[in-house]
Amino acid sequence: MTPLKPSFHGGLWCTEVLELLPDLVAGEVGAEERAAVEAHLRACDACARFGGRYAGLLTALAEAARQEPPAGVLERLRLRLRADLPPTR
Ligand SMILES: [Zn+2]
Repeated sequence: MTPLKPSFHGGLWCTEVLELLPDLVAGEVGAEERAAVEAHLRACDACARFGGRYAGLLTALAEAARQEPPAGVLERLRLRLRADLPPTR
């Protein structure tokens, strides 16, 4: 497996993309940010794979959140996404 190296595409760093993913799935980001994330996903292999893996999970969470409050689930997931990436140096 290729090690994940944060890189810069579409005006966003990988870490920023992963931070935005939960909000994106929850529909809480504006059109501009969404376009930037999508541009990054097209250019960045690591995030495309990451995004694909988590998008399904996040979508399921967002669906569940519609029935009951997420109670910090998205926040915990956000922290996990960050932990999966090495810190930007
Ligand atoms: Zn990336």
